[in-house]
Amino acid sequence: MSRPKIRLHVEHPLSAGQTVDLSRDQANYLFAVMRLGPGDGVALFNGRDGEWRASVAQAGKRAGVLSVETQTAPQQDPPDLWLLFAPIKKARTDFIVEKATELGAARIMPVQTEFTNAERIRRDRLQAHAVEAAEQCGGTYVPPVDDLARLSDVLADWPADRQLVFADEALVGAKRALSDAAPDVTKWAILVGPEGGFSEAERARLRALPFVTPVSLGPRVLRADTAAVAALTLWQSERGDWR
Ligand code: SAH
Repeated sequence: MSRPKIRLHVEHPLSAGQTVDLSRDQANYLFAVMRLGPGDGVALFNGRDGEWRASVAQAGKRAGVLSVETQTAPQQDPPDLWLLFAPIKKARTDFIVEKATELGAARIMPVQTEFTNAERIRRDRLQAHAVEAAEQCGGTYVPPVDDLARLSDVLADWPADRQLVFADEALVGAKRALSDAAPDVTKWAILVGPEGGFSEAERARLRALPFVTPVSLGPRVLRADTAAVAALTLWQSERGDWR
């Protein structure tokens, strides 16, 4: 049986014999846009139960039912890595959420820093971007996107057993890599600042915290969205699930 081309995220529990009622949007997408009909295959995942092959049992204009058949991939969660980033312009923030999902972040945490312009975010929109990214990249996990929180509050509440990789633009060009930091720690996070960078007060506070490892991302100053991708890539290849 060929692998279904369409992957869909659903909230429903997935196991053999289950039926899944489609939302209006999903029915529209499968039957009006993608032109699927009864018997056609769809790959489903819900972020918990791996990937399943399902087939169309009923197809309507505004509704439909899928019938779940067999598991095609086990659940694969990313390493325990959070991405903290300062929201920037809308399209670039969307990009960061999409790339963090593809690159395997376990949790996405928008944080407000001193030089962050955005006062609010559309959490639901960003979450939808994470779902879409997981659908297209073949992942079975969708990272939760948190509400915007102040960086200072997040740091005040920080769990002692989690290391924070601080992408510090003041280290541009320095040889401060991640390689040797905290070899036994399995819980990690990455912090990337806004276009304006971090304030001196933020930098001093971060550098003084015992769980923080400041790193350089090379000899050039990267834009915030590039920095997020670079830092995730660096961590995944040295510490994460690319090894
Ligand atoms: N306006 C700042 C740069 C901000 S770049 C300045 O001119 O100094 C946005 C964010 O990307 C930074 O806060 C930092 O987290 C990250 N970043 C960009 N380039 C970096 C580098 N070479 N090393 C470490 N972090 C970097």
